[in-house]
Formats: sequence, structure tokens, C-alpha cells
Amino acid sequence: MKSTTILSACCTVMMLAGNMGAEKAFAQQPTKVHGYAKENMNTAVKPGDNFVEYATGAWLKNHPLRDDQVTNGAFMDLYEQNQKQIQELILQFSTTPQQKGSLGQKIGTLYNQMMDSVRRNKEGFQPIVKNLERIRAIKDRKEYQRVTAELDRRGESTMMYGIGVSADQRQADRNIVGIGQGGLGLGTRDYYLNDDAQTQAVRKAYMDYNTKLFTLVGYDEATAKQKADAVYAIEKRIAEKSYSRVQLRDINANYHKMSFDELCEQFPGIDWTTVFWVSGFPAFDSVDMGQPEPLHEVEKVLAETSIDDLKSYAELRIISGSASYMSDDFRKAAFAFSSVLSGQQQDDPLWKRATNLVNGVMGNAIGKMYCEKYFPESSKKRVLELVRNLQVALGQRINEATWMSAETKAQAQDKLSNFIVKIGYPDKWKDYSKLDISDSLSLCENLANISEFFTIDELQRKVNKPVDKTEWLMTPQTINAYYNPTTNEICFPAGILQAPFFDPTADDAINYGAIGVVIGHEMSHGFDDQGCQFDKTGNQRNWWTAADKANFDKRTAVLVDHFSTIEVVNGKKVNGKMTLGENIGDNGGLNIALRAYHNAQKEGHVISSDQKDFTADQLFFLGYARIWASNNREQYMDMLLTQDVHSPNMARVNGALPHIDAWYQAFGVKKGNRLFLPKKKRAQVW
Ligand SMILES: [Zn+2]
Repeated sequence: MKSTTILSACCTVMMLAGNMGAEKAFAQQPTKVHGYAKENMNTAVKPGDNFVEYATGAWLKNHPLRDDQVTNGAFMDLYEQNQKQIQELILQFSTTPQQKGSLGQKIGTLYNQMMDSVRRNKEGFQPIVKNLERIRAIKDRKEYQRVTAELDRRGESTMMYGIGVSADQRQADRNIVGIGQGGLGLGTRDYYLNDDAQTQAVRKAYMDYNTKLFTLVGYDEATAKQKADAVYAIEKRIAEKSYSRVQLRDINANYHKMSFDELCEQFPGIDWTTVFWVSGFPAFDSVDMGQPEPLHEVEKVLAETSIDDLKSYAELRIISGSASYMSDDFRKAAFAFSSVLSGQQQDDPLWKRATNLVNGVMGNAIGKMYCEKYFPESSKKRVLELVRNLQVALGQRINEATWMSAETKAQAQDKLSNFIVKIGYPDKWKDYSKLDISDSLSLCENLANISEFFTIDELQRKVNKPVDKTEWLMTPQTINAYYNPTTNEICFPAGILQAPFFDPTADDAINYGAIGVVIGHEMSHGFDDQGCQFDKTGNQRNWWTAADKANFDKRTAVLVDHFSTIEVVNGKKVNGKMTLGENIGDNGGLNIALRAYHNAQKEGHVISSDQKDFTADQLFFLGYARIWASNNREQYMDMLLTQDVHSPNMARVNGALPHIDAWYQAFGVKKGNRLFLPKKKRAQVW
């Protein structure tokens, strides 16, 4: 499903946004507090040589990947539990008759339609024939732009660029219409431009996949191949002008505010008036053109490419967009491609795909039920307390920093104390009463109606309107967290407030190393290389003295240099610039959470286990490593290196900890250990 929102930088704790929940209420005084599971460790390895292996080596050895997994670990265990809980919530509606038009009927129908492979296989690609015929009937370029905009309003992605609405980064209380680069079936430009072995394999699989999709809707092999080549040629042109992941992190390079008239003058190759009108936008004055160069290339593509090739492009987007919701031969083709990309060897079972679909499109409705069942009020209170402790700790560290002037410190403290904190679930829930999901329509038609419902809802709420700072950018059942710079907000959904991130029966040192670092990570995003350019109200405004900013840049460059040396897979290293914001997040998160734990310790407010094997600081770092330890497919790691702004899991432990002085003390790490960094090469930021 296409989203009409182009979010400004929203910094999460991980790339995979799963969905999960808390099964037990948090207990203030658990009867039995446990420490760290020693049986997970490999103590034959020195902590200073490979901390992931030391802390979790036995667990990793005993948990090889299943065929349907590309990664595992604590996060995936929680994710799988979450999927089962969500499926249970859905099944109460899908297994019994529901009143027509009720929320239960909508959820149940959607789930059952996805599960009904007999019907889907009988319908084949019939559900998308009408859209394909609309494309084939187009007579000229002008009509092409209008028809593709009409289709995209209903969830297709035929337009070669994105349009949406989100906060104006320089006037953050107002929304602005945004236009951004897009159009690449492979998502990231590197897949079109790089030539290493895995990228070549992905490209070949992509071409085979596209050819297969054309044959599945009735084209002969030669025509299918020719059409797939034409689509690739268009995408390659756009890719060559598209911004890299590193360029996309430069908040000034991606902001070009102009009037609607200027847009029409400067980008005359796109029929903006028609595009926005049929997409459902009301008239508006100004627009943010995120990436001008790829948009200019789209203008050229629309003018220079033969109309037949343009039609092939739109046809392919329609077919691939619905591949998982039609007959199984389409899904099989999609999986063959994605298994080359990620290394997954066996497709997800149908119930998981159906659960994810319903959770994806009806996430708010599911989230409300989820919180009622799995997230008691006491949890909210306990986590809020933790967040306050972390805020105090960060405030102390800012005060004590030797590299900032009093002037900049005061600004930083002001920003910190003005964080909007969101925990668990939103105060208001989305209204689905006007949404119609009917069993008389195919699954694809229902999904198109749902997309249109969300498109119109979003535009009505946001275009020409002030920013609603109470809006949540994640559903409550999501196992993730975020910082949003334009609202200066940190958000921790109910899904992540669950063991092992937050385990009410665990030693506090472990919890501070897990959920504590997650909270500190999001807070640090408010002060990372992007976040530090926004003020307490969410406006992009420089509140730094020149000397302090230069100092900050020098200190964060230490992280860029170090992470750039970490080799991950296929001889490829971490992209230190692309992952800088996240590495600042982990670095700050570790320092802040440890400080908060030490504060609580001094005040006598910690719950401790009677485990004698480890010191409290050791438990803190072991708890941290346990969160990120995982086995991974090589292809999956390669994919993350290309696409993900986070460092790979292994580097989030073995790359982040060598910058923390207390880790050296806790485990007696010394010069000569493989992970050892001399003091001057350790980042000292937040
Ligand atoms: Zn993050």
C-alpha cells in the first residue's frame, strides 16, 4: 500500500517495525527477580574480543535460523509472540458472523479474504484487469499523468515520485505539501548503480521477477521481457539522479520550499494542477520540493519515453503492487525475488501474512483492542517514571559536558525539558465507521477502497491545517520507538514495553541496559546530527554557538570513522555517514541509561536479583547485548547495509560498547583485546 505521507526524519530504534504486546502487567515488587541467563553465554571468548559472542554465544549456537527466518534474537521472539496475540484478536471476528458495517465485520472480512486461497486462485489476476485496461486505453501523455494520479489515489504507485503532506520543518506548527523522489521498484538507487556480486544477483532476480509478472497477466515471453527491459530503463534513469541514503539525511539539501506557481514554472513537465486535483488535494499555496534533480528526470522520462513504455511501467506497478493479494502464482514469483534479496528460504505461512495485512491497514482498531488486553495503566506509569529518570540523567550529562558553552547548554536543557512524551497508546482513536469492506468485492478492490479512505482522511486532516501534535506515527502494538524532530517528541508504543526490553521480573540493571538504552537512544536523536538542528518547538533553527557546533561535529566524526572500519558481510563495511544518527543514538542511549541506573542505585531505588556472578554494571551491558544479538542471513545483512540507516545488530554491540568507558571497567577490557579503542578514539558526545 502506498502511503501519502512523506514523513520528515522520524528516527526509530530499529528498521523492522514489528507488532507485539505485553502479556503480563508490570509488577512493582516482583517476588522473584532474575539476573542474566548464564547458559546463553560463551565464556570461552573474552568480552573485550567479541562481546556479542561472550554474552550470547551459546544462545546463538543453539538457535540456528529456521527456513522462514532471515534473522532471529530477542526482537524476533517478541515479534512472533506479538503476531500470535494479534491473530487471536482478529480470529474473534473472523470465525463468527458479524453485523454488517461493524468494525468486527471489516476486520473479519479482510482476514478471511486473505486466507481464502481458493477464491483468490479462482479469481487469478481478474481483480486488476480493470486497472490494466485503463492504462492500455490511454491515448496521450497528458491522459497518462491524469490516469496514474487517479490510480495512485487508490493505492497504486504508478507516478514515479511521491506526494504527501507533513510538518514544514521551518514552520513546524504548519503542515506543508511535499513532493519526493520515488519510482524505483528496488527502492534504493544503489541497486541500479552498484556492481558487486550480491547487487548483480538482486538485479537479475528483479528482471526475472518483472518478466514473470508480465507473463502471468498473459503476455508472451518475448513481449514480457521487452516490457520488463523498458521499465528497467526508466527506473535506471531516475536512479542515476536520485539522492543516496547519505544525501537524504542532509536536511537542508532536501528542503526547497516554493509557491505552487513556482512549482508549475520550474517543473513544467508535470501537470501539477491535474495531479493534485485528482489525487484529492484541495488548493494550496506552497510546497516543499524535496529532491529537484530526480523530479526533473521524471519530467524528461514523461516527455521522451514512448507512450508504450510508459504504459509498461504503470502496468508493472499495478501487477507487483497486488502480487501478494491475487492467486498464489503471483505470490510465488514475488517470494522468489525476495528470497534472493533477503535470503529467506521459505515463505511466511498464510496466517502470518493475513495477520500482517489486517494489522497493517486496520492498525489503530487492532491497537485499541491490543492495549485493552495487554497494556494495563500501571505499565504506563512505570515507564513514564523510567523516562523521567532518563531525562534527569541526560540533563546532568549536558551540565557536566566540558565541550559546550553555558549558552548552548541552556538551549539544550530547554529543548530536553520540552520533550513531548508519548507512552503506550494515543488518547484518541481513528474512526473507521465510513470505511466499507465488503465480501462482494475482491480483496484487491477492498484494499484499493481502504487506500482511498486513508488518502482522503489524511488530506482532509492535514492540507492547509496546523500540525496535530497528538498524532501517533506508530500503532500502539508496534515493537519500536521513535523521536520526531518537528514535534520534539519521543514515543514508546505498548508493543516495545515488554520482555525482554522491559521485564518486570528482571534485575533493574538488565532493564536499564535494554529498555533504558532504547529510551535514551530516542532522546539522543533530539541531539544527533539531524536533531540538533531543530529547536524545542520542532523548528529547524540553529541554537548552537559556532565553536560548540564545531566541537560537536569533531566528536561525532569519531563515530563515523570507527563504524566505517567495521566489516559486516561480503567484504562490505558499515556506512559510517549513513548510520551516524543511529550510532549517536546508541552512544548517547548507553551513557544516559547507565547514568540513570547509577542515580537510582544511589537513591536505593533499584530492584536487584541475588545473582552473585555479575556486578550491576556487567548486568547492564549483558542486558544490552541480549537485545541485539541475532543470527542473520548474509543476503539480509547485505540488504540492511544498503538500505538501513541503523548499524547492523552485531555492530550495535561490538561497535558501540568500545566507546563507553564503563564497559572497559566492568569487564577489565585492556589494550590487546580486539575491540579495545584508545581513549582518544572513543566518542564523547552525550
Ligand atoms: Zn534511532
